[in-house]
Amino acid sequence: MDPTDPGDRPPEPEQPLPPRPAWPPPPPAAIGPGQPPGSAPPVSPGWGLPPGSQPCAPPAWGQPTTPPAWGRPPAPPTWGEPPSPPRNRRRVHWILAGLASLLVVALVATVLVVRPAAPAGSSGLPPRAAGPARPAAPARPDPRTDLPKLLAKRAKAIVVDDRTAFMSTVDKRQKAWYREQSTQFARMRTVPFSAFSYRIVELRAGSGLKRRYHADQVYLSQVEARYRFTGQDASPVLTSHSFTFVHIPAGWRVAGKGDKRLQAHDDVEIWDTGQVRTLRSARTLIVHHPGEEALARGVLTVADRAYAQVGAAWTGKWEHKAVILIPRDQDEAEELVGARDLSQVAAVAASSIESDESGRVLGNRIVVNTTNVLGYRNPELQVVITHEMTHVATRTLRIGVPLLLVEGFADWAALMPVKLPFAVTRAALVQEVRSGRFDGTLPGDREFRGSRAGVAYDEGSAFCLWVARTYGAAKLRALYREFARTSPAGPPNLDRGFRRVLHLSRGTVEHRWAAWVRDQG
Ligand SMILES: [Zn+2]
Repeated sequence: MDPTDPGDRPPEPEQPLPPRPAWPPPPPAAIGPGQPPGSAPPVSPGWGLPPGSQPCAPPAWGQPTTPPAWGRPPAPPTWGEPPSPPRNRRRVHWILAGLASLLVVALVATVLVVRPAAPAGSSGLPPRAAGPARPAAPARPDPRTDLPKLLAKRAKAIVVDDRTAFMSTVDKRQKAWYREQSTQFARMRTVPFSAFSYRIVELRAGSGLKRRYHADQVYLSQVEARYRFTGQDASPVLTSHSFTFVHIPAGWRVAGKGDKRLQAHDDVEIWDTGQVRTLRSARTLIVHHPGEEALARGVLTVADRAYAQVGAAWTGKWEHKAVILIPRDQDEAEELVGARDLSQVAAVAASSIESDESGRVLGNRIVVNTTNVLGYRNPELQVVITHEMTHVATRTLRIGVPLLLVEGFADWAALMPVKLPFAVTRAALVQEVRSGRFDGTLPGDREFRGSRAGVAYDEGSAFCLWVARTYGAAKLRALYREFARTSPAGPPNLDRGFRRVLHLSRGTVEHRWAAWVRDQG
C-alpha cells in the first residue's frame, strides 16, 4: 500500500471493488440510440455521461451514486480501481508479507500495507536484572513479565464482558483516557468476540515521561491484537495498536495510546466510532452500526447467494464463511481499510497476514463502501459481494498472481450468473474497442490503478472469460494456481505460466484474446 506500496505492484489486489454500476437493465423503452442492448437506460437524472466520457459510452456500469438512477461515476465507470494507498498503515497484508515481522495491515483493495515491527523477542524490553539480587532490595517491577499479564487481563475482560476487570487495567488518574476507555469498552461489548489476545511487538522506555504521568516507570509500546468473531474466523484477524504503560503504586496500568509515531500505525476498528449490531446466517456475519439494518439485510441476502456462485468458479478449499463490515460511510470505510480514497470502490476485501516469517494469510474481512453501494439494487450488490467473496476464497493463493488474474477471476466469477451481453458487462472495454483505443495488450498490474482502471478490470474479466470458454474453467483455475507459485518479488512471468498451462506463448495468447475481444465489440 502505500507506504508499503512496492511500487511495481499495485497495492494488493485485494479487492477493490469498483463500484459497479447498474446492472439490471432498465426498461426496454428507455434504450436509446447508442446504448448497447440491455444497458441501463437513462432513467433519471443521474444518467448523464460522466464528464470526460465518450458520448457513446454505454451508460450502464456506471458508478452508483445517485440512487436508483444509474448515475455514472465521475471516473472510470467500472469496477473501480484499487484503492489508493492507505493513509498510514493498515490492515491487511498481502503482499508485502515478505517484510516479515510486522504487523501490518493492509488491505484493501488492493493494497496492503505492511509495517515493520520489532520481531518478537527483541521488543526493546529492558534486560532482566542479571546476577544475584541484593538480598534486601525489593524486586523492581519488570515490564517484560508484568505487561503481558496486564494485557492478558484486559483481553480476557473483553471476551468475558467484564467491565470491572477491563477498567482495572486503565490508569484512572488520566481522566480523559479513562472515560474514553470506558466508552470503548461499552462499544466493544457489542462485538461478538470469541477470542482476543495481545502481543507486545515493540516496547521502549519513555523515561522523559515519568513526570508527566507521575509514574516511576513509563513504556511506549506497539501491540498486536488478534481476535476472532463467534462462529467465524477459523484463523484470527490481526490489528495494531499502541499503548503507553505506566507503573504507579497500584501497579502497571495503560495510561494512553502511544506517541504520534506509534499511533500512526494504529488500526481503526468498526467499533471505534460507535456501537455495532450484527446480523448473521449460518455462514455470513454482517457487522454494522445501528441505523444500517436495511443495507445489512440486503448484503446478507446476496452474500448467502454468493457462496454458490463462488463455488461454481473456484474449486479450491476455503472456509465458506465471511465477515462483512458495513461502516457508516466512505470516510469510515477508508479508516477501516487504511485507504486514502475509496471513492471509486464499492467494497474491499482485506486479509491479515501472520506477523512472523511465515507470512501466513489469516482472517479476512470484506468492507463495504456504504456511500457507494447505498444506491445499488440487488443485482449490483450481488456482483460486488460475489467479487469480494471470490477474493476471500482465493486469498491464500493471491501472492504472486498478477492482477490480470486476481481481479479478472473475481469479476468473471461474479459476472458468470449475469445473463447480459458482453457489451453491458464489460462496457468500458467494448467502448475502447469501438473507439479504436483498444491496443490488444493484456493489462499489467499498474493499469489496475489510475484513470483507466475500469478498462483494466474489464480486460482481466474478458481474459478469464476467454480462457474459460476456449480452454475450460479448469484451465483457468490451473492458470491461477500456476502463478500463485511464482515469487511476489518479480514481475509475473506471463509467458512461462501461459506456456505451462495453455501451451501457448504470451504473444499467441495475447493475440488470440485480442481478436476475440474485438469480435465481442
Ligand atoms: Zn477485486
